[in-house]
Amino acid sequence: MPRDPLPPAEHGESFARRDFLKASAALAATFPASLRAATLPTSLGAATLAAPPQAATPLGQAPLVDGYRLNAILDVFRRYGGGDDGGTTRLAYSDEDIAARAYAASVMENAGLQVSVDIAGNLIGRRDGADPAALPIVIGSHMDTVPEGGSYDGMVGCAAAFEVALTLHHHEVELGHPLEVVVFQNEEGGKTGSRALVGRVEPFEFDVVTASGFMIRDGINRLGGDAARLDEAQREPGSMAGFLELHIEQGAVLEAAGTQIGIVEGIVGIRRWYITVLGAQNHAGTTPMPQRRDALVATADLIRAVSEVATTTEGRQVATVGRIEAVPGAPNVVPGEVRATLEIRDLEMDKIGQILSEIVARAREIESAREVTIEFEQFYESLAAPTAPAFRDMLERAATDLGYSTLRMPSGAGHDAQSMAELGPVGMIFVPSRDGISHSPREYTAPEDITRGANVLLHAVLALNAAG
Ligand SMILES: [Zn+2]
Repeated sequence: MPRDPLPPAEHGESFARRDFLKASAALAATFPASLRAATLPTSLGAATLAAPPQAATPLGQAPLVDGYRLNAILDVFRRYGGGDDGGTTRLAYSDEDIAARAYAASVMENAGLQVSVDIAGNLIGRRDGADPAALPIVIGSHMDTVPEGGSYDGMVGCAAAFEVALTLHHHEVELGHPLEVVVFQNEEGGKTGSRALVGRVEPFEFDVVTASGFMIRDGINRLGGDAARLDEAQREPGSMAGFLELHIEQGAVLEAAGTQIGIVEGIVGIRRWYITVLGAQNHAGTTPMPQRRDALVATADLIRAVSEVATTTEGRQVATVGRIEAVPGAPNVVPGEVRATLEIRDLEMDKIGQILSEIVARAREIESAREVTIEFEQFYESLAAPTAPAFRDMLERAATDLGYSTLRMPSGAGHDAQSMAELGPVGMIFVPSRDGISHSPREYTAPEDITRGANVLLHAVLALNAAG
C-alpha cells in the first residue's frame, strides 16, 4: 500500500516536530480554547499540585488531559507506517520504528522530559521529582506493531503517557516522585525491551530474526542500545514506585458491557501442550466402520470436550485447540495419528491445572470409547501476572471520580506490564476496542475513550504521587 514518504531517520526529529506542530495547531484551531484546557474538581486535593502560577489549575482541582492534542499526537504517529486502510505496519527495528522513536523523543522534550535511550534500546523520558529519595513512577507502552496491524495497539498507551507528561508540564504540576515515560521496544516480537529490564532475555533470542528482517541483536543496536551489554539494562526489583500502562482492550468485553474503563486484574497465565492421539492407520475403503481406531475422529471428540469443559466451568478461563495435523493426511487413509495443540489461559495457574485435569479425564473416556491413546506434553508456560490490588482500587477511584464507568477484567493478551510486575506494583487501564478487533487495520478506539483512559492514567499518577 502507498505510504507517506518518510523523512531520513537522522532528520526525523526536526521534520516530525514541524509536522506535529502543524497538525496540532490545525486541530486546536478547530475547537474553542475553553474545551481544550478544561479542569474538573476531584478528591485528589491540593497536595498533588505545586503552588500554581497564574494560568495554572486552581488548588483543589486536578488537571485534565487535552483530548484534542492527545488524539492529534496519535494521528501524527500514523505517518510512521500508516496505510490507506487505517492500519499501521511499524515493525520493531524497521526504519518506520526508528523514525517514530525520533519523533517521540521530540514530543517528550516538548513535555519537559530528559530523553535518553537505555542499553536495551527503550526510549525513556524522565523528569525529576521534588523528593530526591522518592522512587520513579513509570508509565508507557510500545509503538511497534504486527505486520498489517492497527494504529491503536500500544500507540494509545504511548500517546497517553506523552499527553500526561505534557499536561503536568503545561500545568506546572510538580511531583514528589520522578516520572519516567517509557516506550518499550519490540513488544510484538516478544516484549524484548521490558523483559531486558528484568533480565529475562535469553542468549538465543539475540539471533532471532524479527518481522522487520533484523535480528534482535542488530535491532537493539539500531535503536541506540547495546546488545553486547544487555544485562546492564536490568533494573533492581523495588526500584520503582509503580508502573501504569494504558492499552486498548483488544477484546469486546467493555463494548458489550457499555463500560468506559477496564480495570485490569492481571495478565493471564498460559500453558500449552502437544497432544498426540494414536489409533490405527488403515485402508479407508476396506476397513469397516466398527473396526476403525480413527485417531482423527477421537480428536474431534476431544476438541469438543475441551470447548465444553472451558465453557461449562465457572470462571473466565479460555481453552483452545489451535493446531491439528492428521497422519499420514491422505484422503484414502484412516488417520493413525493426530498431533494437535492445547492452550489454556486464566488469571490463576491453579485454575489452569484444574481445567487440564477435567480435560484429561474426558480424554480417558475417549480413549476407551475409541480405542486410542491420548498423550499430553507441556511445551510452554507463562506465569500469570496479577496487577497490584491497591492499584486496581486506585485506578477505579480515579475513574469513578472522573465520572467514568468501570469494569474489572483479566487481560487475555500479554503486555509489557507483565515484565514490569517483577520490579514493583503495576496497574493497567483498558479502553474499549470497537467490535473487539485488534492486530488488524480495522482496529479502532474512539477518541473520547482514549481521552478518558488518559485522564484515568493522569489521575492515577497524581494519586500514586500523593500516596507518598
Ligand atoms: Zn500491545
